[in-house]
Amino acid sequence: MGSRAAQQRQEARQLAARLSAEGVRNVALTWVDNAGIARVKTVPAERLAAAAERGVGMSPVFDVFTSDDAITASDHLGGPDGDLRLFPDLDRVTTLAAQPGWAWAPADRYDQLGLPHAACQRQFARRMTERAATAGLELRMGFETEWVVTRAPAGHQTATGDEPLDYPCAGPAYGMTRVVELSDYLRDVTEALSVQGIDVLQLHPEYAPGQFEVTTAPGDPVRAADDVVLVRETIRAVSVRHGLRASFAPSFVAGQVGNGCHLHLGLYRDGTSLHRSPDAPWGLAPDAAAFLGGVLGALPALLAIGCPSPASYLRLQPSQWAGVYQCWGVENREAALRLITGAPDDPDGGHAEIKTFDAAANPYLAVGSVIAAGLHGIDSGDRLPEPQTGDPGVLGVRERARRGIVRLPATLTEAADRLEKSAPLHEAMGEVLHGAVLAVRRAEEAHFAESEDDEIAAATRWRW
Ligand code: GLU
Ligand code: MG
Repeated sequence: MGSRAAQQRQEARQLAARLSAEGVRNVALTWVDNAGIARVKTVPAERLAAAAERGVGMSPVFDVFTSDDAITASDHLGGPDGDLRLFPDLDRVTTLAAQPGWAWAPADRYDQLGLPHAACQRQFARRMTERAATAGLELRMGFETEWVVTRAPAGHQTATGDEPLDYPCAGPAYGMTRVVELSDYLRDVTEALSVQGIDVLQLHPEYAPGQFEVTTAPGDPVRAADDVVLVRETIRAVSVRHGLRASFAPSFVAGQVGNGCHLHLGLYRDGTSLHRSPDAPWGLAPDAAAFLGGVLGALPALLAIGCPSPASYLRLQPSQWAGVYQCWGVENREAALRLITGAPDDPDGGHAEIKTFDAAANPYLAVGSVIAAGLHGIDSGDRLPEPQTGDPGVLGVRERARRGIVRLPATLTEAADRLEKSAPLHEAMGEVLHGAVLAVRRAEEAHFAESEDDEIAAATRWRW
């Protein structure tokens, strides 16, 4: 232990010296709260070694912060007492391309005695990744990032989001015109991400006004969650430098297509994809089918993790590619769980996509709870039902019932009720984290209980 600490200290000192030589003055240590907001403490670069050794203080009350910065309480958390220590992950320290003089690192949270904080979402994600590894499974995951960009208001910016929306591009959905209109901005987004070691797969204009999407290469689940935080903050920073403003909110304008944050996942055993079994239905090895069956079955409860805001349910409308029905399909963009086959000769081409999730989700909770649900599916011998083709939203109620397709929760209350009752997710998360997540969901519901749709969209537009 002593020598590990000494080695860490040595590594941190070298890193701090390298950062200083690169002109980095400050390091931002982020962690994501249960409302999906990246909270931060920053330290001067020369304090990085001290931060790595002793952590940086932060109150545990942030576990019960809501997206409007109000504070609620759970049975275990809330109130002004206590302290936690944020420990930067030195392996992920990244010099920020669009914030000169700054570096970033994701943080794990420990108590003052050095024990893992029971509600630390990043360690939950790591525990579930290790649980999968114990079962011989490797998960490769990646998030898609969708965002809407507007011109930053020239004058006073309100926190309520009710300024007029001024889009910097007018071109059609998926149209080259938007790429031409914003070519410098989009180039700078891609360049900043690449320089920071993010492997960009593609970038394109999306459906809604001012909307774009970037996809990045899959990796280890914790890495995928770290990456999506870095991707989002990088897009935000590049936007600011261009006089623009980026929103990752689930519902940017109520009634329009929203921002999703789909989670892609591929299953491997001994480095071999479980989506490429030659004789199995859909190429899915039995464990992959059971894992995906477990995820599909748990989706109503998982929505309280992946779609955590009342605003999420404004986005979750049928026929908008947001996957609001509890079904799966091969390359079906209206199924909540889409099986992606990829090119037959691509050994890594096969994977699955959860379309329902959005960027208000804490990505660490999302990856951890999906793994927990999938492993539970394997333990229970779950199977996938028949796949669905076409848009369930255009079928009549009777036909949907005949096919056994049910609508996923249409409100946060319903999703939170399902999470409350989910024994596997409760067990995986542990009492303290499960309780804190539910407390935050209940507070978000109460806060917006009397609000109209457009008020919810406006109030949450610039929160994530
Ligand atoms: N914007 C859609 C959503 O809300 C997704 C579009 C797509 O399939 O990428 O999830
Ligand atoms: Mg998209």
